[in-house]
Formats: sequence, structure tokens, C-alpha cells
Amino acid sequence: MTATNAALINSRETTETGATTGSNFIRDMVNEDMRTGKFGGRVHTRFPPEPNGYLHIGHAKSICLNFGLAESYGGKGNLRFDDTNPIKEEQEYIDSIIEDVHWLGFDWEDRLFYASDYFDQLYEWAIELIKKGKAYVDSLSAEEIRAYRGTLTQPGKDSPYRNRSVEENLDLFRRMRAGEFPDGAHVLRAKIDMASPNLNMRDPVMYRILHASHHRTGDKWSIYPMYDWAHGQSDSIEGITHSICTLEFEDHRPLYNWFLDELGIYHPQQIEFARLNLTYTLMSKRKLLQLVRDGHVRGWDDPRMPTLSGLRRRGYTPAAIRNFCEEIGVAKANSTIQIARLENCLRDDLNKRAPRAMAVLRPLRVVIDNYPEDLVEEMEAVNNPEDPSMGTRKVPFSKVLYIEQDDFREEPPPKYYRLAPGREVRLRYGYFITCVGVVKDEQTGELIELHCIYDPQTRGGNNPPDGRKVKATLHWVSAAHALPAEVRLYDHLFLKPYPEEVENGADFTANLNPQSLEVLTTCFVEPNLAGAKPGDRYQFERQGYFAVDLNSTPGGLVFNRAVKLKDSWEKIEKAQQ
Ligand code: ATP
Ligand code: MG
Repeated sequence: MTATNAALINSRETTETGATTGSNFIRDMVNEDMRTGKFGGRVHTRFPPEPNGYLHIGHAKSICLNFGLAESYGGKGNLRFDDTNPIKEEQEYIDSIIEDVHWLGFDWEDRLFYASDYFDQLYEWAIELIKKGKAYVDSLSAEEIRAYRGTLTQPGKDSPYRNRSVEENLDLFRRMRAGEFPDGAHVLRAKIDMASPNLNMRDPVMYRILHASHHRTGDKWSIYPMYDWAHGQSDSIEGITHSICTLEFEDHRPLYNWFLDELGIYHPQQIEFARLNLTYTLMSKRKLLQLVRDGHVRGWDDPRMPTLSGLRRRGYTPAAIRNFCEEIGVAKANSTIQIARLENCLRDDLNKRAPRAMAVLRPLRVVIDNYPEDLVEEMEAVNNPEDPSMGTRKVPFSKVLYIEQDDFREEPPPKYYRLAPGREVRLRYGYFITCVGVVKDEQTGELIELHCIYDPQTRGGNNPPDGRKVKATLHWVSAAHALPAEVRLYDHLFLKPYPEEVENGADFTANLNPQSLEVLTTCFVEPNLAGAKPGDRYQFERQGYFAVDLNSTPGGLVFNRAVKLKDSWEKIEKAQQ
């Protein structure tokens, strides 16, 4: 772990309402504001996504923080679309964001807003700043503006247009709005200080000309506000108390404050926190869009994507994600969290709630020679050993079964305790069986089936009266009763923990894991899964947690592996190979 963890304050405390919540520096600030009455005892936050992509696990952190804070102080949380860039924004993204925030379990009641709701007000305020001599129309090109801006070590230069009269500025700005000029001809800039050590204060652009249709305002506007101009004023209009954003906006805070102070309007407090980074994961929406567009994944909701829709499809629960966000806490310095921590939160949650089932992913036929031809026994199986209230179910047992290919070795290595010629093992909830024969394809030598005998005294998988023990327990399904299924196994989408580390100017796609998806089409699951519906989650005994895919049907079952079991057994396995 890095030094940045020192900044991670995540002790536990109990609030006055009795709710236990992680304490952190943001809570400390809010507590202080509550004590001094800075916002009249109110807590009002917002989650402000730009609708230019699907939400990802990083957004979940911000959502949990904003809505969680409001919830724990009895305050309010808004959902506000920061829709100031008409070019990249789409209704599809808005719909998905609404669905995802609701899915996480948060509610904004009637407080769904759009920055575009405020375009008229923002325009009026811009006129006000022009009249005060605090904003001007600049006619330099974008490149010139960049060149005039200076660098971290060199001050910027005033634009030759900086001293236009108020009248001229008003006239030009109104005509910008009226659509008289082409894109890029002019911009409106705040008149602050071209020599400021903070580059954001060197006369930042407030409006640009953009002849583009907006998904909500249509062709009404041919100028659009920049993020910095829209954001703080939107917060102010909505009466936000604590405007929480990620660290890169720390240098924008003076500008956030400057606009509000110059306008003399209600002034929320901006607070920055470290964004979430995860190993083996990219979070930039631009890069996620690239993965989708270029077909590296099957869509925004591909179960390998870090998007909330991808995680949901993979089998993640809202509780697992919320617990994760709570557990990692809020820091003031950037760091990267191990993806294993997210996976652990999912295991912990599904262990409690997912019913168990038996599924054979790579089937090997087993014929039990001494089992009656037409007998079917209904074996009782526990649905969830963690939760007796989930009860039991019946699983059919018969003469021909499938087990995993992996659970048999003709020549077992040391410490391999599963099935082998002459070896006895337990079939979970079934019987003890002993392997007495191996049938192979005469030509290819390929294993076709095993022959076994069972001990009728071990019904239910119980130890026999003679106290004989076996070292391995296998899962199985009855061949005549099992349902065929497709199972998709996932690995990290990227080979490297830091996917952006590339060599020789390569793109991050050079780090894509070519084996991130393995599709198994010849699996069998126990017949109790006949009614499995998209979104249902199971623990397949010994295999991990699986979710029924969106496109699964009763006749074409498809399961996604959400996460493997934390299994010492697997380590033993690796050590043997
Ligand atoms: P990108 O740069 O990928 O487009 P963004 O930060 O611009 O992401 P927004 O839609 O503007 O995406 O984000 C909405 C909110 O979510 C913002 O308040 C932002 O700070 C927060 N957020 C985005 N990514 C993360 C992250 N990785 N961790 C925590 N918060 C995040
Ligand atoms: Mg953004």
C-alpha cells in the first residue's frame, strides 16, 4: 500500500440517527458547518453526470458519497445532468444513468434537473458580468487563446480585444446568441487576471459558439456555456450546500468562488476528494466508448466493463457496490484500489443471498454400474448453508451422471484427492462412488466415460456405518434430468494492473486481455434452474457465483460468472500443476 493511504480516514462512528457510517474529512467539514450553522443546518448535495457515456464504478463512489451524505444528515440529493456539450450527449445515456442510480438504491424524488434548464438564467448572468466589466467578447482563435494563455512558469498576455467597451461586448454577445457568427468566431471570457499563477483564472472562456442541436433545447441556442461557468451557478440555483467533486477541480475552486462572488448569489461550498481508480480497470468514458465502438467488448453492458450496467449483468448487487464504496472510504489523495477488494464485497454479499446449485461446466459422463436402470432418487440439498431460512430442494440422482472433467485424473498427481481409477469420492448430497473403469475412444484415446459403483449405505452423501472416509466431494448432475446451458467465464479485461502503461507509444488497447471471455456451450445445470430468470444469481457449488444473463431464456439458459469462490482448493490445484 502507498503513502496515500495515510490520507485515508475511515474510522467508524455512530450518527445521531443511530446509523453507522464511515467518518471522513468530508463528514468532518459538514459536521463543522452543522455546528456553525453555515447553511442553516441543511445538507443538500447533487450528483452531476455528463450524459456522454454510461456510469461506471467510479461514479458509484460519487453517487454513494453524495446521496449517502444527504441521507445520513436527513438532507436532500439531486440528480443533475450536466448537459452543456450538445455534441457528445445522447438520450440513451440519460436513460441509462437514471436506471443505474435508481438501481444503486438512491432516490432524488422530484429533483431531477438539467444544466440546460438554466441556460436562460446563465445568459442573463453573463450579461450582468459584461455590464460590470467582468466579462468580454474575445475574437482570437482557439490556438491564439491557447498561446496567449502562457504556461505554469510564464504569465499570459492580454488579448487585444480585452478592453472592448461594455456596449460593444453586449452587442457582440447578443449577436453570438442570435447565431450571426460561425463556430469559433468569438468567445465570451471572464475578465480576471492573465498573470494569475492559477491558469484557470487567466480569463477563462465562459461561452463558445456552437451551431449544434441540443437534446433538450433543440436549436434554441447557438452558444453553449463552459463547464466552469455552468456548474457553480447550477449548484447555486439548486441551493446545494456541499458541491463535491474530484481532485482535478481543486484548481478550479477559485474560479467557482469568483463567479458566485461577482454575481453576489447564494454560495455553496466546493469540496474535492480523490477519484476511485481500480487495478485492471479503465474509467475514462472516452476510453470506454472506444472499447464499445471498436468492438473490443459486446457493448456498454458487457460483463467485463466497469460500467454499472456491465457489473449488474455480471451479477453484482447494489449492496456489494455500496459496501465497497463504504469500505474504501474517502481520501484526499489519489490512489489505486485492488480490484480484488471489489470482488470480495460481491462474494460477501452473494454468500449470504445466493441460493446454491450444482452445475457441470465441462462434463464427463459417469455410469454407475450397480445403480438400478430406471431408478430416480430425489436427494435433499441445502439451498444456502449461511441461511437456513432459504430451505432445501430436491435434486434427482440416477444411473448416468455428469461430473467435471477436472475432477478425474487417470494418473492422479500427489495430493490430488478427487476421482481416479480405484479411488472413492463423495458426490455431494448423492452417494460415495468408486471408479472401476475408464472408456476411451479407440482411435483418439480420448476419455469418453467412467464406470463407477456406488455404496447404497452412503445415501445423501453421508459417511457409511463402517466409518470409511473420503477426501474429496464432487458436484454432479443427473444426465437425464440436467438442463443444457451456456456459461461465460470472465477474466480481467486488461492484462496489466495499470492498463494505461504501454510501451512505444502504443494505445491502451495493446493491454487488452485476449482471454478475457471464455464461452462454454456444453454445460449442464440441475433441473431446478429451469425457471432461472435474467438477473437471478446462484452459487454453483465449487465454481463461483453466477448470474443469469439478460438474454437467457428457459430454452437457452445463459449464465455469467460474476466471481470465483475464494478457494484454497484452487491454490492447491495450481501448486499441483
Ligand atoms: P470522464 O472524465 O470519464 O468523462 P467525468 O468525471 O467527466 O468522467 P462526469 O459524468 O462528469 O464524468 O462525472 C459525474 C460525477 O462523477 C462527477 O462529480 C465526477 O467527479 C464523479 N466521478 C467521475 N469519475 C469518478 C471516479 N473515478 N471516482 C469518483 N468520482 C468520479
Ligand atoms: Mg466531467
